[in-house]
Amino acid sequence: MRVVLVALPGSGKTTIMNYIREKLPDVKIVNFGDIMFELAKKKFGIQHRDEMRKRIPVEEYRRLQEEAAEYIASMPGDVIVDTHASIKIGGGYYPGLPDRVAAKLKPDAIVLIEYDPQEIIKRRAGDPTRARDVESEEEVEMHQMANRYYAFAAASAAESVVHIINFRGRPQKRPFEHTEIAGEYVIKLILGARGQTRQTSPS
Ligand code: AMP
Ligand code: MG
Repeated sequence: MRVVLVALPGSGKTTIMNYIREKLPDVKIVNFGDIMFELAKKKFGIQHRDEMRKRIPVEEYRRLQEEAAEYIASMPGDVIVDTHASIKIGGGYYPGLPDRVAAKLKPDAIVLIEYDPQEIIKRRAGDPTRARDVESEEEVEMHQMANRYYAFAAASAAESVVHIINFRGRPQKRPFEHTEIAGEYVIKLILGARGQTRQTSPS
């Protein structure tokens, strides 16, 4: 099964991936941006992943997306793809999974995770390792809305199922509660497709 996981940058996707990796070590987790970055480093001398959306000409960016999708589609077994339904470029929204790319990647499921905007802003402020865009609540919410539409469009092109995990109005009762809920949701999807139920881990 191929699952695409999308959520706004800086909202905690990588943390969810790490949670899933620990519980289901045989699932391959691949970051779409990493694959694009590897290709971009060689071709354009890009130094940092957050430069890609600013420094690569759009035609080349399109080719990188397509090459990354082809590479990921060739991976055997269960794969979870950490990526974006849309990328904010110059104040507008560029499709992360345009038809051509979605059709190549061909995910079985697209899982969209949505949060209260103020929670995303707080998480971004707490991550000094990345050059995240600084945005208002309104801008964050607009991007989440755009992502819904883009996810539906991508699902249509790829004939995939869209799942929406909406954490708005559901603040965490303890740290990493959202990570666990979203992680378990994806684990259930994958085990369901394998026809297995969850085995209790020894920990
Ligand atoms: P991330 O680490 O998930 O924030 O991704 C870093 C960068 O990778 C993004 O800012 C984009 O430039 C690029 N990226 C990731 N997924 C896609 C995609 N599906 N289409 C285009 N660019 C992408
Ligand atoms: Mg990430």
